[in-house]
Amino acid sequence: MFEIVFLGTSASAPSIRRGLPSAVVLHNEQRFMVDCGEGTQRQLLQSGLGFKRLDKILLTHGHLDHILGLAGLLSTLMRWETLEQFTIFGGRSALERVEDLIYRIVLRDAKTAVKLHFTEVKPGQLFEDRSFELSAFSVTHRGSGNFGYLFREKSHRPFLADQAEALGVPFGPERKHLVAGKSIVLADGRVIQPDEVLGPLVEGTTFAMVGDAARIDNLIDPIYGADALVIESTYLNVEAELAQAYGHLTATQAAQLAREAGVQQLILTHVSRRYPERDVLAEARTIFPRTVVARDFDHYRIMKDKALLRVIDTPAEEESYVSA
Ligand SMILES: [Zn+2]
Ligand SMILES: [Zn+2]
Repeated sequence: MFEIVFLGTSASAPSIRRGLPSAVVLHNEQRFMVDCGEGTQRQLLQSGLGFKRLDKILLTHGHLDHILGLAGLLSTLMRWETLEQFTIFGGRSALERVEDLIYRIVLRDAKTAVKLHFTEVKPGQLFEDRSFELSAFSVTHRGSGNFGYLFREKSHRPFLADQAEALGVPFGPERKHLVAGKSIVLADGRVIQPDEVLGPLVEGTTFAMVGDAARIDNLIDPIYGADALVIESTYLNVEAELAQAYGHLTATQAAQLAREAGVQQLILTHVSRRYPERDVLAEARTIFPRTVVARDFDHYRIMKDKALLRVIDTPAEEESYVSA
């Protein structure tokens, strides 16, 4: 299962109800911020997520509406020094711009105790832990070094606690061994095989996030079969020429991509003030009915073979610092 909290869902400039692009993807203890438009740190507080465990950001590209919030967010994080390190993942050109922003504008000659890591993204795997992996794929937009991100949970065989109990498997390292696929010998000499206590293989959830994009044909393969796709939808089809001129997608194109890539759910974001939200939704739904348009602070749960779940009333976590 993955969760996503949208912090900003507007294209290019904020509107009264929508901040500039940013979202946080949650998986177990891990948090990944994706893009950080101006004003994101306040959105983060208002969302209830706070700054806790926020130590990684994935940049889709280096346009200002996606990165300017990093100046404010990092200056807060560095000043309070509650964080040991912060890693920024992005294409070469996005990282160069962010490095200028941080080192030339925010820090200048000042030193910070926070270790900043800039990790250049290339297509392929970026991060892996016990339960999931994160990979990047190229996206066409204005300029070079634009990326989308795919979060994929590893498939696993659930541990059948009742079965283990019935066989007399004690709590502790024996269970860990069985989960790791190794047989164990009990105190009475009986050998227990992993197959006796592990259920059938459960496939993991796959979740794709694409920022700004000018084409959909080269995105079908990387996101194929995802349980959910988040993608920009800046224009409507009536202004398809403008979309093309600025390297953006229409709601129609986003919906066509979802259909052709066989994804389960489509979540549109990066929407323009030029159109009412209902028009964006209606255009996409004629092609791909399982579409929603994200709003700021929307919180969704994405699970394999389950409908997209909107989480209401997220319990606000306590903030990770007390005062300046
Ligand atoms: Zn943008
Ligand atoms: Zn852009």
